[in-house]
Amino acid sequence: MAELKHKKQLFFDFDDTLWDFQKNSAHILEELFYEYQLADKLKTDYTNFEKTYQTINRELWKKYYKKEIDKHHLRNHRFDKVFKAFGYTNYEENLEVTNHYLRRGPKGIHLKEGCIETLDYLKPNYQLHIITNGFKESQDIKIEVCGLKSYFSQIIISEEHDLVKPEERIFRLAENFAGAKTEDCVMIGDSLESDIEGALNAGWEAIYMAGNKDHNYGGRTIYKLEELKNLF
Ligand SMILES: [Mg+2]
Repeated sequence: MAELKHKKQLFFDFDDTLWDFQKNSAHILEELFYEYQLADKLKTDYTNFEKTYQTINRELWKKYYKKEIDKHHLRNHRFDKVFKAFGYTNYEENLEVTNHYLRRGPKGIHLKEGCIETLDYLKPNYQLHIITNGFKESQDIKIEVCGLKSYFSQIIISEEHDLVKPEERIFRLAENFAGAKTEDCVMIGDSLESDIEGALNAGWEAIYMAGNKDHNYGGRTIYKLEELKNLF
């Protein structure tokens, strides 16, 4: 595969590429599970609750990306659906749990392994940016609180532009914001659909951050962020 070292504009996805979304969100879900005595109410254990939450959350985000539901619906029905999956109905309590989750969730500080070391290595020689699919208020808090903000020149949050990855227009917009040429851009992300296909369709290079996921992607792949030090 072609060398990447000469490409100077590196765009990172945020959730589960730099910021450990799974770990941060599991931590809050577990707190809420015990605070609201959900074991008794849902008649299940935490592991089952979390698994169900993640499945329902993923489905709702897919619908949101397809513009089948809006932000309000996504947020206000997420825990309600999880509750109902266990035969429990309490819409008001769902809203309370939602409020706590939204307030505490973005304050997680767990980063992916090697994140700081890798960004420190790249920063002197490359322009670093973020393109993240998400809501402005939560992504802003996450990026600030976890201490990564100062590494990035441009931070592009999908909601602010009413565009989402993998739409080509968000990659073009990112180029404009960064003052970058298409041939200088590389996307690094953990979603084959949003990050990798999106970037490749826009004519960028892409690096799939597979983590410990099973996959059969044949393109450029890393399993840990620190592998970027060998590529740049
Ligand atoms: Mg991601």
